[in-house]
Amino acid sequence: NTTREPGDRTTARFLEKQPYFGWHDGMLLPGTDMQISFLKDLVTQRDPVSSYSFLNYLHDRGRLSAFINLSTFTPSRHEFHDYLSWAAGRVTVPVSYGTSVERISWNGDHYEVTTSSSRGQEILRARSVVLGTGIRPHLPEGVETSARVFHNHQLISHLAQVPSLDHRTFVVVGAGQSAAEVVKHLYDTYPEAQIHNSFRGFGYTPSDSTPFANQIFDPEAVDGHYTAPAELKRELLVKHRLTNYSAVDEDLINELYQHCYDEQVAGIRRLHVHKVTRAEITGQTDDHVTVQISDLADRDTRNVTADAVIYATGFRPSSPCDLLDSTVDVTGAFVDGLSVVDRDYRLHLPRETNQVGGIYLNGNVEHSHGLTSSLLSNVAIRAQDILTSITDNPVTTKENNHV
Ligand SMILES: Cc1cc2nc3c(=O)[nH]c(=O)nc-3n(C[C@H](O)[C@H](O)[C@H](O)COP(=O)(O)OP(=O)(O)OC[C@H]3O[C@@H](n4cnc5c(N)ncnc54)[C@H](O)[C@@H]3O)c2cc1C
Repeated sequence: NTTREPGDRTTARFLEKQPYFGWHDGMLLPGTDMQISFLKDLVTQRDPVSSYSFLNYLHDRGRLSAFINLSTFTPSRHEFHDYLSWAAGRVTVPVSYGTSVERISWNGDHYEVTTSSSRGQEILRARSVVLGTGIRPHLPEGVETSARVFHNHQLISHLAQVPSLDHRTFVVVGAGQSAAEVVKHLYDTYPEAQIHNSFRGFGYTPSDSTPFANQIFDPEAVDGHYTAPAELKRELLVKHRLTNYSAVDEDLINELYQHCYDEQVAGIRRLHVHKVTRAEITGQTDDHVTVQISDLADRDTRNVTADAVIYATGFRPSSPCDLLDSTVDVTGAFVDGLSVVDRDYRLHLPRETNQVGGIYLNGNVEHSHGLTSSLLSNVAIRAQDILTSITDNPVTTKENNHV
């Protein structure tokens, strides 16, 4: 029997390596806002009357009227994090925090997911596995992290652990939204500190959040992107990059420029924006890091003695290859290192493995599903697409487990 029948049960287990729920909590900086409307919460676009909506969260927290008076669509990241935590706390399916997925194998009939946690190793059996493993912090080649050198993703905890701040000097590398947020945070938090920001361009590039361009994040845009010819896909990703990547909120750009200008007027400089430069670590001791900031045309170089260097140098998608072991036949599943994924987000594996379920990629399929496919923008619809595909998939047994 390969069809679902009334009474068939779909069970699921969620595995998360963090010890408790957290959404990029290393960058939950004061004054930072969401880059999407609260209407793009976990459910509204799919089911506007779901009790998991941001509006129901506000109601539950007794802040609905107060929020309405704010007249905003973009809550603070702090508030959205609280919303996501509230939603996570209400989920009734089993979620194992502090549990890392180490390996996924195929045993001829089902997948085996090997996990590791404080309880030791465990092997779970599943018909389908959905990978929502997100993005990984990226550092420039050769950069080694230390207590004084780190990526911005864990900014809050790493800043708290910098051994000493005797030089009152920070270097930030990068010019995207995170870099600008880190510069502002350091500037506001350490009023005595010198802040150096090095990047390769002339200035921060403003993000494009205008309504016509924003249509690229509409759920309907996924079909359009998925069915477009490869060349057009690539062109659209490049053309609309500034809706999401390496681009900064315009108000924040103006705020930083205002600081620079006010300092020129006052004749006291502490925000140093080094345009068209590269930053290289040339030495490190227990007490400080030496950073050489050089003009890209090698006309000028200066050395900065910093307490910490923060690399806001972006992220890279995590690949399913990191987890699938050699028992999973991936013939046809990757071309030029990119996953080949069906419209329902299922990895294109040979037929026998896909018959009973499949490996689904929730995120990291920008090349096939478009810019919205790794973002919160479309998460409600994406989750529905994946769930529908799993529950509509012909199966061989009555008990269908999914991880
Ligand atoms: C600072 C910041 C702000 C952002 N703001 C926005 C925004 O306003 N709007 C927007 O749309 N997008 C935003 N993004 C983009 C971000 O990618 C999405 O918001 C969202 O986090 C994507 O969700 P995800 O579940 O795919 O990935 P993630 O949120 O990255 O979650 C992946 C999870 O998988 C876990 N994991 C990874 N590997 C394993 C493993 N082997 N075993 C077990 N668990 C594992 C990780 O611990 C992590 O919790 C932001 C990103 C950052 C860094």
